[in-house]
Amino acid sequence: MPKIHSPDVRRVLAERLRYYNELGIYDFYRRPQPPASNLAIAEPDLDEPAPPPQPEQREEMPRKSAVIAKPASENIFQVLHPKPEQNVADPVAALKLVREDLGECTRCKLHKQGRKQIVFGVGNPQADLMFVGEGPGADEDAQGEPFVGRAGQLLNNMIKAMGLRREEVYIANVVKCRPPGNRTPERDECDTCSPFLMRQIAVIKPKVIVALGAVAAKNLLAINAPMVELRGRFYDFMPTGARSSDPSWQGAKLAVTYHPAFLLRDPRQKGEAWKDLQMVMKCLGLKLPGKPE
Ligand code: SF4
Repeated sequence: MPKIHSPDVRRVLAERLRYYNELGIYDFYRRPQPPASNLAIAEPDLDEPAPPPQPEQREEMPRKSAVIAKPASENIFQVLHPKPEQNVADPVAALKLVREDLGECTRCKLHKQGRKQIVFGVGNPQADLMFVGEGPGADEDAQGEPFVGRAGQLLNNMIKAMGLRREEVYIANVVKCRPPGNRTPERDECDTCSPFLMRQIAVIKPKVIVALGAVAAKNLLAINAPMVELRGRFYDFMPTGARSSDPSWQGAKLAVTYHPAFLLRDPRQKGEAWKDLQMVMKCLGLKLPGKPE
């Protein structure tokens, strides 16, 4: 039985990975090694997806779209398949490459469920602050820009209250196509689309990311917890599989707050959201209201 690092197996794996890369899938995890007595590794069945992990393993394995703190160590797959925007210093050009790679995407079923257009993201490609929502709604789908409806107006007000302009931050979503009827994007849709968000983050290299709502938070952090537990602290965040070309960027701080659409439904929570934004402002060194310079 050939070893996994034999030239033939490596070549076949490289071809398979190139295929996955073309689908926009870049992140791969290696299961823990079995005990030495069981080290005879079966050749992987390259035509069949790996069986899903057992529930207890799934709980421990980060989702492929994100990881908290440090990324998984480099492996031959990432060396073999650098992303097109890597080593492109100009963030505008690098984001353009990510967008081109996304193309007229049909990678998940949202492409055939009534989307008018892909909503990639908008804002400053070198923003210190990035907002991430869950997915486009009807207004965003029509205009091709995230957060342009009523919830977008509220987000604009939140940004303004922080002393910033919308043009100074970057805004994107976990999925880039509108889910039908504004339903919550499903797990497979998030998993398929979020690698492109990770690549946007790696290009922009924000100091702080604000996850807007539970869907964005859970997808970015791979934590299944209620909002009340997710809010009120920073998480160290590094996008998995999307390396920054800048060795000085060690990832972002990530905070969680309520989605503006939720705040429209329950304005009583605006005070709590403002606490979250003040925490972010402090981290970014922005002047807090009522405090002298
Ligand atoms: S949601 Fe993302 S992965 Fe799915 S079709 Fe749209 S761009 Fe592609």
